[in-house]
Amino acid sequence: MGDRERALDAARRRAEAFLGTLDDRPVWPRASLDEMLQVFGTPLPERAEDPAAVVEDIAAKAEPGLVAIPGGRFFGFVIGGTHPAALAADWLVSAWDQNSGSSLLTPATVAMERVAGQWLLELLGLPSASSVGFVTGGQLANFTCLASARNAVLARAGWDLAERGLRSSPPVRFVVGADRHGSIDRAARFLGIGCAEVDVVDADAQGRMHPAELERVLDGGSGPLIVCLQAGEVHTGAFDDFRALIAIARRHGAWVHVDGAFGLWAAASPALRHLTAGMEDADSWATDAHKTLNVPYDCGMAIVRDPADSIAAFRTGGDYLVYSGLDPWDVTPELSRRARGVPAYAALRSLGRSGVADLVDRLHDNAVRMASGLRGLDAIEVINDVDYTQVMFRLGTDEATRELGAAILVDGTAVVTGAEWRGRAALRCSMSSWATTADDIDRTVHAIRALLP
Ligand SMILES: *Cc1c(COP(=O)(O)O)cnc(C)c1O
Repeated sequence: MGDRERALDAARRRAEAFLGTLDDRPVWPRASLDEMLQVFGTPLPERAEDPAAVVEDIAAKAEPGLVAIPGGRFFGFVIGGTHPAALAADWLVSAWDQNSGSSLLTPATVAMERVAGQWLLELLGLPSASSVGFVTGGQLANFTCLASARNAVLARAGWDLAERGLRSSPPVRFVVGADRHGSIDRAARFLGIGCAEVDVVDADAQGRMHPAELERVLDGGSGPLIVCLQAGEVHTGAFDDFRALIAIARRHGAWVHVDGAFGLWAAASPALRHLTAGMEDADSWATDAHKTLNVPYDCGMAIVRDPADSIAAFRTGGDYLVYSGLDPWDVTPELSRRARGVPAYAALRSLGRSGVADLVDRLHDNAVRMASGLRGLDAIEVINDVDYTQVMFRLGTDEATRELGAAILVDGTAVVTGAEWRGRAALRCSMSSWATTADDIDRTVHAIRALLP
């Protein structure tokens, strides 16, 4: 075998070995970052090393520092696993090495991304002419949509942002819910909107924006306006009331953006679609493929109702670039990039419409099973309405809750992560992995019961 074949062979064997341990290994890593830095932190080698030997060595040394994220009992943050078709397609993306920003240069991967985008719009019930930009994740999807939004609301006020810049432009009002995801504030920061300039609308106990409060906040101002709503609060999984809120925002001439990193996928399930009712009337939507759709990192989608608004914000004037209709680089901030939409294409094809619906339903069923198992344990209070995929719980005191969280990680059966909710410590589980079974839920509840004080 040549160098390349031996290196790929090593990667395949090592990948299979890792995936084969997922059911039994501790979910949380056994090695710390310092230990990993010790292991990998050798001086830069002076001379070449055999490619296959490098791959073998990396895989062996990384082993204790790896998190069992693609397994069935990683419930931390909101993180999906890896669907087989998406994983294998992702390997091909690296082998093909197609620089997929331009439709002239890389027709095969651009075509698959374009079709994946159309399928996505169809599955989620969003306007079929929308632009779909493949970016690294929800953070960049929020940024990309909001950059288009800022351009558009300023253009409506007669201000050409691309030409005249931000310094003397009319101020853009930026209105968000109290329980928005932190990536909304970061996106605002990247766009030159300061923390003190963000208008925050109160939310209810589950984290949903109060319509009456939105009305009150919007009545208090005028000018270019962006309103950010949310499908899937990161702790509770709650959905804003899109019907009511979008009607109010529209009356005030707002651009409405929906952060639906994992929540937008509820629209793909006939049983859960009601949670997203009305969200199709927004102007832009951010979502992730690496969460609910279970493609490998990284893959998010920035969706904008009118592609002209994406183009106005992102099309480059560089004279060495050739235009041929809508190019991937016309709708996102990137130029050169991997074909990260190809694994999404493979996952959507492999699952099919019913498979995506089943996947989302199963995540919800798992959340209901987890909540019911936890409610069966005396000391535990489940805090949220388990309408979607998130379960948040706590013990009687913050100290006991935090201690339980630490003990769960040491135990290794599962990973749940901590949060603060309404001023109190909480633990939260996110059902995001296609690999999670009812048995995984029961094993987790069993392990937690054994750790209770
Ligand atoms: C995860 C998440 C994001 C950020 O997405 P990344 O893929 O981590 O960049 C934004 N909003 C919500 C609601 C999320 O759950």
